[in-house]
Amino acid sequence: MLEGIQSAAQPASWLARGQALFLFLHLLGIACFAYIVAKRLAPLLRAQRDLRFDRPLARLGKVLKFWLGQWKHPRYRTAGTLHILIFAGFILLAMRAFTVLIVGVSQNFVMPGLSGEAGHLYEVATDYAATVVFLCMVFAIVRRAVFKPARYEVPAKFGKAHKADAIFLLVLIAILMVADSLFEAAKAVAQAQPGQHAVFAAALSLPWLLKVTLSAVSLPTLGGLCFTGYLLHEIAFYFLLCYRPFGIQFHVETSLFNVYFSKLDRGKLKPVKWGVSDEHLDQMKSFGVKTFEDFTWKHMLDFYSCADCGRCSDNCPANAVGRPLSPRFISIKARDYAFQHYPMFGGANNSQPLIGSIYSDDEIWSCTTCGACEEECPMLIEYIDKIVDLRRGMVDDGAVPQSLQKPLKALSSRGNPYGKMEKKKADWANAKDFQQVCPVKTLDGKNAADTLYFVDSVTAFDDRMQSIGRATAKILDHVGENFGILGAAEKDSGHDVRRFGEETLFMALRDHNTDAIKASGAKRIVTADPHAYNALKHDYKDVPPVEHISQVIAREVKAGKIEFRPLESDGDVYTYHDPCYLGRHNQIYDDPRDVLDAIPGLKRVEMTRSRDRSFCCGGGGLMLFYEPKVDQRIGVKRVQMAAEAGANVIVTACPFCMVNIEDAIKVAGLEGKMTAIDLAELVDQHIARQGTGGEAAEAQQ
Ligand code: SF4
Ligand code: SF4
Repeated sequence: MLEGIQSAAQPASWLARGQALFLFLHLLGIACFAYIVAKRLAPLLRAQRDLRFDRPLARLGKVLKFWLGQWKHPRYRTAGTLHILIFAGFILLAMRAFTVLIVGVSQNFVMPGLSGEAGHLYEVATDYAATVVFLCMVFAIVRRAVFKPARYEVPAKFGKAHKADAIFLLVLIAILMVADSLFEAAKAVAQAQPGQHAVFAAALSLPWLLKVTLSAVSLPTLGGLCFTGYLLHEIAFYFLLCYRPFGIQFHVETSLFNVYFSKLDRGKLKPVKWGVSDEHLDQMKSFGVKTFEDFTWKHMLDFYSCADCGRCSDNCPANAVGRPLSPRFISIKARDYAFQHYPMFGGANNSQPLIGSIYSDDEIWSCTTCGACEEECPMLIEYIDKIVDLRRGMVDDGAVPQSLQKPLKALSSRGNPYGKMEKKKADWANAKDFQQVCPVKTLDGKNAADTLYFVDSVTAFDDRMQSIGRATAKILDHVGENFGILGAAEKDSGHDVRRFGEETLFMALRDHNTDAIKASGAKRIVTADPHAYNALKHDYKDVPPVEHISQVIAREVKAGKIEFRPLESDGDVYTYHDPCYLGRHNQIYDDPRDVLDAIPGLKRVEMTRSRDRSFCCGGGGLMLFYEPKVDQRIGVKRVQMAAEAGANVIVTACPFCMVNIEDAIKVAGLEGKMTAIDLAELVDQHIARQGTGGEAAEAQQ
């Protein structure tokens, strides 16, 4: 075919011989890709609504930060660096790939703006980009095949391993880079004037290496190599394009859209159904997600976008203690289900209930809604909303775990999970000896106050946690806050009821509390419970602004209204455990630490997993009352992490955490060696009160 080519001035003519074939492959590749994508979009068209077309600037910002900027990738240094290099290489090579594809059918094509010096510079950059991507592929293949990072493994209970598929794709990309470089090298050597070298601008790059190797090769052979390089590039390009939507690499196509349409509001839960107001919920025939088509289109896009990197599961506390939940497989199993039920040929198969087919009930109940998976995911894939939606479906079908039936019944009848009488809600504050130390008003119409202290169920009713309530009240009193509580009129905030999937009960609790809060006339709300904080901030509407007590303390310390007595050095080492609903969900990391660091003499260390990588205590999403079918407790792991950090006092700022951590200290056999204390309790014990020394601590007892 190429025998007639004798002149270096006609390298384009080598390609011209294959023009018809290249054009055919282009059309075939594009048609196949369009068909495959149309098939993949089919379930999204049958999915539920999801309103994600608002705030385009904020969404663009997310794309710039998380997609283009690869913001989350460095959290895993080796894999992250590898991904950033590959991604940057792909971005650089994108224009080159299109140019090469067009050159096959229009040999003299030059991308506008890339002629002359700019084109030369771009060529140098792409030579290096192709080299870096190629080397990254080699490294990634060796890493996957030889070093086998644990987080990529697939436990048998979750299905088949994906290693072979991953390696196959890496090899394909490596071939693409070699083919591109071969095409360029053969063309450049052929174009060089007789007696001169081809332009070896990008020294030590893959194309450069090939150029050097081919420098003595005859023109007809160069023609053959140029042709072969082009053909291989085209086949590899379209094969990759069409193969990716069948597996984990589909994220290459979907990630940009997935990031653009990602959730903008932290801490907020999706409504039961987008576009259906609370008032019209009772007209819905079914609640939550029961079949695949009950997911929203964005949640389906999430499934397609999962890169199977395992970062979510690596950080999931439920997965860490062997519960049947691994968030990565929530996505992978749903994606496999979509592929199976929406096949490439033929129509969609009948949908089956997801629980019992791809998910188990224990798997879905195991989530603490801690948000570690979402924090880690570089694709910004959402899990909490999906898990809550699946729970809504189970609650709608009456499939509530035995251990949670009692607290739910109590919440419905008494407004708290313990089933205690409403009138007992303020007992912690009304005890005579405490009223003498710190009188707490009940805002019942006769009393008014600027600030409402929203106590919530665990602090109000758990004997141990009432100490957090008393400490909080004393701190508010110390800084001169005119505050009161709702007392019997306060019901559970419903935060965890909602995350459990009981939306109707949540709405009843929310509406009751909203009326009571409004009737109190308070202008702002303070709480020491991050779950109540999150509910009042994100789940309630039309209530005054809310602050967590750690924010109040930090502000008053800075303003000089709170001063501390020095901590008597007794060798204690403190560590701060970030509650999920204060830290990850609401980004309050510094205030509690600033408060601790303001106590003179307090020695503080950080656990390896802290701030946005904090490890859940295991208590969110009504988990305080759920009895999972495994032995190891999440809280025990957390306590061991504190011990490893060299701490013997765990400070937290959440009554849920306190219940779990104190329990875990006992289970871990660390009683006497490790203690836990709430930030409010610690602050109350060490506030320098006028004319007092250690009375505060004593009064606390
Ligand atoms: S929210 Fe927490 S417990 Fe639930 S899946 Fe994610 S990491 Fe696991
Ligand atoms: S959900 Fe995100 S973090 Fe988890 S495996 Fe998929 S891409 Fe990785």
